[in-house]
Amino acid sequence: MPLHLPPLTRRTFLRRSLAATASLLTFPRLRAAESDADPDRWALLSDPHIAADRAAMKSGINMTEHLEAAVRGVRALASRPAGVFVNGDCALLKGLAEDYATFSALVAPLRETGMPLHLTLGNHDDRDIFRASLKAAIPAAPPLASRHVSIVEGAHANWFLLDSLDEVNKAPGTLGDEQRAWLAIALDAKPAKPALVMVHHNPVSSAPGKKGALTDGDELLALLLPRRHVKALFFGHTHTWRLTEKDGLHLVNLPAVAYPFGATEVTGWVDAKLTERGASLTLHAHDTQHAAHGKTTELAWRGA
Ligand SMILES: [Zn+2]
Repeated sequence: MPLHLPPLTRRTFLRRSLAATASLLTFPRLRAAESDADPDRWALLSDPHIAADRAAMKSGINMTEHLEAAVRGVRALASRPAGVFVNGDCALLKGLAEDYATFSALVAPLRETGMPLHLTLGNHDDRDIFRASLKAAIPAAPPLASRHVSIVEGAHANWFLLDSLDEVNKAPGTLGDEQRAWLAIALDAKPAKPALVMVHHNPVSSAPGKKGALTDGDELLALLLPRRHVKALFFGHTHTWRLTEKDGLHLVNLPAVAYPFGATEVTGWVDAKLTERGASLTLHAHDTQHAAHGKTTELAWRGA
């Protein structure tokens, strides 16, 4: 399973709130937050690259500030998302326990407002340290022992979360036979709703000859394309915001929350609203002057 961080319990939240504010004014606000979750709204984050040291910078970006901005943005949405995905590379480079401690603290405000977090692993995560650092989030019965895979069931779609981490701090990723076999069975078992698949690595190289993509991306696409209820594949890794499609399957490259690899690439996160027939994706760029900031793209699901 990807690591799922459930919302902080009401009791924990209240204890914290009361300790922090010593005020009963938090009660009505909490009650409102609990009742207004939008079952069709999902916040999509990828590649936050959090270091243990909150002051750490890369490419002129302070990653803590970027994740904090994303968290503030998600909390400021007009309706509360049903869940928040963070699609890999939660840690800066090597998946250190201290990185995850800082990450956990930075995303706590989401959990405090009742939003479950669903985390996948990227190539800058370490599966064992991740599991050890976030013990409370480990499911009792993971579908695969070797990988963090799972299904998040939504009102209008089911999300299938994959684990493409191969070697820590090495760019390429892989799913492997066992995980792809699980995915095929899992998809076939849930044909009634649109299936949305999420994985850290890009399924195809972003440029000819460029390494670092999913090594079994072709096999993944061969699995997804004939299953017509699979409507979209979401990925990160390239730190690029780009929408393409293949045979009607939407390929959604989520931007990095952290830093861009190319100077022209935008960073931020995506607000996704689902319907029975598709999705509206709105980019929330850190640079609010960027031409793509606030733009909404409508995706129509391919036919069955
Ligand atoms: Zn990354």
